[in-house]
Amino acid sequence: MPRPVGTLRDLPADLAGKRGLVRVDYNVPLNAGQVADATRIEASLPTLRWLLRRGARPVLLSHLGRPGGRPDPALSLSPVASALADLLATEVLFSAPCDGGDALRASRQLGTSQVLLVENTRFLPGETANDEALAGRLARLGDFFVNDAFGTLHRAHTSTTGVPALLTPSAAGLLVERELDALDALNRPPRPFVVAFGGAKIGDKIALMRRFVERADLILVGGAMANTFLRAQGSETGTSRVEETALDLARSIRSAGGERIRLPTDVLVLNRSGGEGESVESVEVDEIGPGMTALDIGPESRARFAEALRGCGAFFWNGPMGLFEDPRFAGGTFAIAEAAAEATAAGAFTVIGGGESAAAVRRAGLLDRVSHACTGGGAALEYLSGGRLPGLDALAERRRP
Ligand code: ADP
Ligand code: MG
Repeated sequence: MPRPVGTLRDLPADLAGKRGLVRVDYNVPLNAGQVADATRIEASLPTLRWLLRRGARPVLLSHLGRPGGRPDPALSLSPVASALADLLATEVLFSAPCDGGDALRASRQLGTSQVLLVENTRFLPGETANDEALAGRLARLGDFFVNDAFGTLHRAHTSTTGVPALLTPSAAGLLVERELDALDALNRPPRPFVVAFGGAKIGDKIALMRRFVERADLILVGGAMANTFLRAQGSETGTSRVEETALDLARSIRSAGGERIRLPTDVLVLNRSGGEGESVESVEVDEIGPGMTALDIGPESRARFAEALRGCGAFFWNGPMGLFEDPRFAGGTFAIAEAAAEATAAGAFTVIGGGESAAAVRRAGLLDRVSHACTGGGAALEYLSGGRLPGLDALAERRRP
């Protein structure tokens, strides 16, 4: 990790009995009070095992969802404690709220091989406000600080920037290190460097996409992102999802990128204008009618995009090519996942950066056939496009003599 941030290996040699306050990213999907996807919990295990092996006592902080500064039982981290206990095969204690006297006592009473997880930090209004008093109360839960929450490094919140400002020493965890190493490899990518943008969170992403125009050799656009580009050039997009506020930016990316920006030439639409219910049809992009919703890239576009990946040196992908959760509209996303796996086998360095994108590649059974899947799309995009990561800067500041 070639930056002025300490890693676990820079922590003092004797950690036995010391409480390591670890910011993890346990923002996991829940279903009926159970963890529905444990990927992010699994991603934290190397750091936790590393600390436990040295006799340290991990105290874990995380947010889950957007409770808006109030306790919300549906967003409690308590189910995560049991999932973590199973995965780590050790005792995981749970304490609520995250900052009270109970949490402090529990942290001080932790025994060998025990882990303490405290309640959702976003149950308190001070978390997203980067509140100093809260930072002080949280910092008391540990003797040193580790940030292993890659997915929230782009947020300046109490648990990501306030706490390390008060707690020394502090270090990046093994997950953060691994993620940044993968992304650093894309900062000087083997060429051609192909990127693909899709998905639905257009407003958040399109400004970051703009910064890829100078860096990538080819930008493939699918999903609702493509609808927005089509609308920006004046095409009919029917009832497709379009980000109206992004049209100017889409036009400017198109004119700056020229031939390097590849839009779909055909799409799969849900057509409700036929009279007898709805039907799924493949149409050319200039045939999209008022009653149609574009929900995937079409067969010709899949082949063109897959061809563009053949022989690439590096590939970065953020955002599914369609509404892949519905099997009728998963084909475009799966075709790109397959092409990414083939490119990887042929020697390309391939990174999937986005929550749903990674879920789609996993559903296609191809996650272990790409080079790296990021646990946080927002942080990955921010870092790759040259932006600052406040969570990382907070660790670096503590290193300055
Ligand atoms: P990621 O999590 O990979 O960063 P986003 O959060 O931006 O990606 O978007 C993921 C979502 O985008 C998926 O749930 C998918 O169903 C949706 N999506 C993709 N294409 C379309 C489309 N054409 N219309 C509506 N939703 C789409
Ligand atoms: Mg997403």
